[in-house]
Amino acid sequence: MDRRKFLKLSAGAGALALFQMAGVSCINPGDGTIKLPSLPYKADALEPYISEKTIRFHYGKHHSGYVKKLNRMIKGTAYADQAIEAIIQKTYGIADETGIFNNAAQVFNHTFYWNSMKPGGGGVPAGIIAEKIKADFGSYDAFKKAFASAALSQFGSGWAWLVKDDDALKIIKTANADTPVAQGLTPILTIDVWEHAYYLDYQNLRADYINAYLEHLVNWEFAETNLAG
Ligand code: MN
Repeated sequence: MDRRKFLKLSAGAGALALFQMAGVSCINPGDGTIKLPSLPYKADALEPYISEKTIRFHYGKHHSGYVKKLNRMIKGTAYADQAIEAIIQKTYGIADETGIFNNAAQVFNHTFYWNSMKPGGGGVPAGIIAEKIKADFGSYDAFKKAFASAALSQFGSGWAWLVKDDDALKIIKTANADTPVAQGLTPILTIDVWEHAYYLDYQNLRADYINAYLEHLVNWEFAETNLAG
């Protein structure tokens, strides 16, 4: 990672501040333990698009499991008192710390994913985020097509993201636990395309899950707040 990107990363605990603004508890309050942030809505709030059963497994078992494993791995190390973004950036690409990276990145990615959705969300955005999307992608439809294509074409487990690279919005996909936070990009929105995110509700029909996310779940207010990051 070059120095410019490192400095840019170091400057931002922006996402963490956002989670607090959104009423989600801090991931690492600095007491040596990473906390599982609260869901920003009830477990059944995203039905019928994402079922309560999916949320209870995904948040209650998967996300919670990453927090527990990470805490076991960093207990008594310098990482225990650090922000999740700092842990991600410091362990990225370090062979001996792959386990810490994977679990820390998944803690961040899932927290970001829950906040990327809301009941009654989705559809065409308005305001500053809408103008920025039009400026950088040409139209909302072009954005939607590119985002859905990235989410659908991610081979195996991973994530699709709307990110800000310097001042430009882009769509990227990441494999497994990989995250734009590690790459010096500012995350704006994400969708989890690991099978555990949709298989109970959509089985193998990933495209239907992606469409439901875009049409009914995207939290555009959260996305717009992230533009400032
Ligand atoms: Mn997941």
